[in-house]
Amino acid sequence: MSLRFTAIKEVATNRKETIETPSIKVSTIFGENVFTLTTAREYLSDEAYKSLQASIKGSKKIDRAVANQIASGIRAWAEAKNVTHFSHWFQPLTGTTAEKHDSFFTIKSDGTAIQEFEGGALIQQEPDASSFPSGGLRATFEARGYTAWDPSSPIFIMEIGAGKTLCIPTIFVSYTGESLDYKAPLLKASEALNKAAVDVCNYFDKNVTKVTATLGWEQEYFVIDESLANARPDIVLAGRTVYGASPAKGQQLEDHYFGSIPERIYAFMRDLETECYKLGIPLKTRHNEVAPSQFELAPIYEEVSVAVDHNSLLMDIMERVSRRHKLRVLFHEKPFAGINGSGKHNNWSMATDTGINLLSPGKTPKTNLMFLTFFVNTIKAVHDYADVLRSSIASAGNDYRLGANEAPPAIISVFIGEYLSNVLKEVENRVGNKFDEQDEAILKLDIHRSIPELLLDNTDRNRTSPFAFTGNKFEFRAVGSTANCGSPMTVLNVIMAETLKQFKTDVDTLIAKGEKKEIAIIQTIQKYIVDSKKVLFEGDGYSEAWHKEAEKRGLPNIPTTPLALDAMITEKAKKLFENNNIYSHAELEARHEIELEKYIKKVQIEARIMCDLALNHIIPAAVKYQNEILTNINGLKASGLPETAYKIQLEILTKISKHLQEVYNKTHALVEARKIANAIDNTRTKAIAYCTQVKETFFDDLRYHVDKLEALIGDEYWSLPKYREMLFLR
Ligand code: ADP
Ligand code: MG
Repeated sequence: MSLRFTAIKEVATNRKETIETPSIKVSTIFGENVFTLTTAREYLSDEAYKSLQASIKGSKKIDRAVANQIASGIRAWAEAKNVTHFSHWFQPLTGTTAEKHDSFFTIKSDGTAIQEFEGGALIQQEPDASSFPSGGLRATFEARGYTAWDPSSPIFIMEIGAGKTLCIPTIFVSYTGESLDYKAPLLKASEALNKAAVDVCNYFDKNVTKVTATLGWEQEYFVIDESLANARPDIVLAGRTVYGASPAKGQQLEDHYFGSIPERIYAFMRDLETECYKLGIPLKTRHNEVAPSQFELAPIYEEVSVAVDHNSLLMDIMERVSRRHKLRVLFHEKPFAGINGSGKHNNWSMATDTGINLLSPGKTPKTNLMFLTFFVNTIKAVHDYADVLRSSIASAGNDYRLGANEAPPAIISVFIGEYLSNVLKEVENRVGNKFDEQDEAILKLDIHRSIPELLLDNTDRNRTSPFAFTGNKFEFRAVGSTANCGSPMTVLNVIMAETLKQFKTDVDTLIAKGEKKEIAIIQTIQKYIVDSKKVLFEGDGYSEAWHKEAEKRGLPNIPTTPLALDAMITEKAKKLFENNNIYSHAELEARHEIELEKYIKKVQIEARIMCDLALNHIIPAAVKYQNEILTNINGLKASGLPETAYKIQLEILTKISKHLQEVYNKTHALVEARKIANAIDNTRTKAIAYCTQVKETFFDDLRYHVDKLEALIGDEYWSLPKYREMLFLR
């Protein structure tokens, strides 16, 4: 029996019992595996506690002497929880998380065994970095990289089976200080935003001393049965199906969306949530998504660097917990053709240390002007750096999703809703008519009260926009489901920082010319609205008309990764990242190189799988079925029946032969195209060749014929689980 039928049988017979997680009140377990400040109070001396507290706020570096005290406090806490090992936990550019476990156990010079964890081990480690991507930053003889403790993200205990490991969130940098991960640049960008935003806030409120970016991500994913997944080599190796005919029932009924969650999945979710709560990940919502077997979960938003860590941690935990339930989580942006892909909406805003959400419309004219300032600066930032923002979410997986079913296009535009569009128009129309002190109508607009109402009216809230204002935050929807949020969040924070710095310069220039502060601000806002209004779009982002309109407006629309990545290394981008101390030129070039290499590898793997499956699964199935038909024809012939008796059989044979030939020829041509691409030296040219000569030339075409064969060949001959099985059996 083929793996497919064993798998189907397993789902039918062995998946009756669900693994139940006991119901525990969230508040009793929330954060129990996190070294919070409250825990620190208990385990640290006064001096050590204060030092840790200051460094969490980012105001002070921890010195070595205190580090030893902190480390032994952390070890005491961890050992009380039966932890034996510790690990620096980081987010290298491979896109997954990395850990290297070390034991607390060590041997003294006299041979006695002791448990030890020194400040040095807490603050810095030197993992063998040679296997992580560096884009040529580290010459091979200098494979050293360092992980350095990031106190702004809390230390946690990871439970894997019975084993427990103390995980220390770190940044990962090269020997000479270049960032090799997603986290270091994010922290730098957050700091740049903090400085620029505080300066602008101080026009309105002198008490603001700190601004942090906030992020609430929404993670979409598919879940399918483990046995069915294992019977699909493409899912095992690439996380997506490279072949598969559309099932009779897909998502057309939309009966999955907000429907009741299937029992087995529900058990998985509850188990997952318990694990997440212990780690202090504030999960809030879970529901079905539009496609069958697709789901989403979202936490309460947090400070951006913690939120990024929590998302990476979550993806890791989802993977592990799903295995307990004999399920597989698919994070890929497009696991199934013809069915919705998965995204990771990034809800983003900025908050002050005085407790104000800077994208929440204010109650008074003054706070309204502050809202308008940050709102318009965001639009300007997205307008000016749309290409850089686009490059931050470019990946081989996301290329399948952007512009396909129910996903935003590769064109970056901003949706703000009718009410705010009118507000901006009103401000804009005063260009030329100087504001004077009597003219405060704009400042008195009741934005605060109108926006919530407006959002209630506007229930469909334009889901087609890649960057939408949703009442008190912007939602960046073009981010792919496998992405590390650090990448788009770094860019969003840095473009905002750059724009706000310019804003301050512009306002100060007007003030120096004798303009009143409020007037200077509103005039600058006015100018920014005019400068950036072409990025605003309220219509249907999925429509063909928008593609045409966007082109007319001169908005970039770059659907493929190798070309979208160009925006990372333009003079404009180099200036942006260098001015804000995020990346040097060398670091940018290296990142660009790494992203291109990742793209090449992904397409390469998919191309190989397509050929393997064609030769080892598809063609053998087709040939076997042909033989069966031939036997039948020969039997009919031998019994003296006329040709009309097996006319249909011949027709089927012919059709199969036709597709079979196409599959075989295309497989060979695909291998040749890969060879040519592989011989190219320049990484960018090679990535483009993989995109156009390999992927675009062959993938859909080859798939077309394989899917036709799936429809023609007897079900029992087909060895790969079909879409209907993966999507509907559980
Ligand atoms: P939806 O209707 O899309 O579910 P929600 O209001 O529930 O909208 O928010 C979705 C996500 O946005 C949640 O993760 C939520 O925590 C987050 N969010 C809400 N306010 C903010 C904010 N000020 N900054 C960042 N994220 C936010
Ligand atoms: Mg959303």
